[in-house]
Amino acid sequence: MAVKKIGVIGAGQMGTGIAHVLALAGYAVTLDDINKDAPGKALERIEKNMRRQAAKGVITEDQIAPALARIRTTQTLDDLRDHDLVIEAATEDEKVKKAIFKDLCTRVSDHTILATNTSSISVTRLASATDRPERFIGLHFMNPVPLMQLVEVIRGIATNGATFQAALEIVKKVGKTAAYAEDFPAFIVNRILLPMINEAIYTLYEGVGNVDAIDTAMRLGANHPMGPLQLADFIGLDTCLSVMQVLYEGLADSKYRPCPLLVKYVEAGWLGRKTGRGFYDYRGEHPVPTR
Ligand code: NAD
Repeated sequence: MAVKKIGVIGAGQMGTGIAHVLALAGYAVTLDDINKDAPGKALERIEKNMRRQAAKGVITEDQIAPALARIRTTQTLDDLRDHDLVIEAATEDEKVKKAIFKDLCTRVSDHTILATNTSSISVTRLASATDRPERFIGLHFMNPVPLMQLVEVIRGIATNGATFQAALEIVKKVGKTAAYAEDFPAFIVNRILLPMINEAIYTLYEGVGNVDAIDTAMRLGANHPMGPLQLADFIGLDTCLSVMQVLYEGLADSKYRPCPLLVKYVEAGWLGRKTGRGFYDYRGEHPVPTR
């Protein structure tokens, strides 16, 4: 069955980007969030980002209005009832995600495929909270979604072939490339990327370099487009911590121990760009290192 209507749960950084690319690809999208201000802000951000894409010639001006018209917002999962696919992009917390899926299963049709955008949590374990593990899959978009080419596709132990094919088709239709990853903690990209970011935070914690030196070193010395601390702020420090905890617990190896400085920033509510402060302070005209 062809997927036409897609629900997106969580209108944060990722849900916003996912809704953006799905709407441009012609899907009818319903964007849900428990925070009543989030979907409105998401729509504003989507329009702004589409205008930016049009100014760069990535899309045309006349694609914008029809794409925006394809996005509805809601605060109740009942509105996802007749959708063919629902992609969960809520906070990276297993309890939150399992509660969403349990609730969702009582409301959607039998044919609805469920997907999670989790960065690190076991797809098989999340699937076990649903009544349809065979129609459950990991669709891991990268941030920022409109710019990044990759989507990791992760099958849980029970995911069936039709669900896998439907996922691959969606990735293709939004113009992205799929990489298939086995269901192990943090999959491929974050299994490699997050320990590097965590090590950069240890480098800061141990005083080997300050924020500026570490980011400059990795930009100019390793040819990375962004320094690891700047990237951590961009991802969100709560998400970074959560991925490290999943690696630490899931692989039972002390090499994944989250840096205590990362924990401290998260406890302070300094979560990076989204809260205005992390390893940089974004509240002024230019980002200023906080260490
Ligand atoms: P975010 O904090 O920007 O957004 C999460 C949103 O989920 C918030 O708006 C919150 O209100 C909403 N939410 C929480 N509980 C909810 C519920 N019960 N029902 C509906 N909405 C709810 O986080 P994000 O960066 O967008 O991350 C979302 C997911 O995407 C996480 O699983 C994360 O691991 C994954 N992810 C993040 C990145 C990244 O770089 N930030 C990249 C790939 C995947």
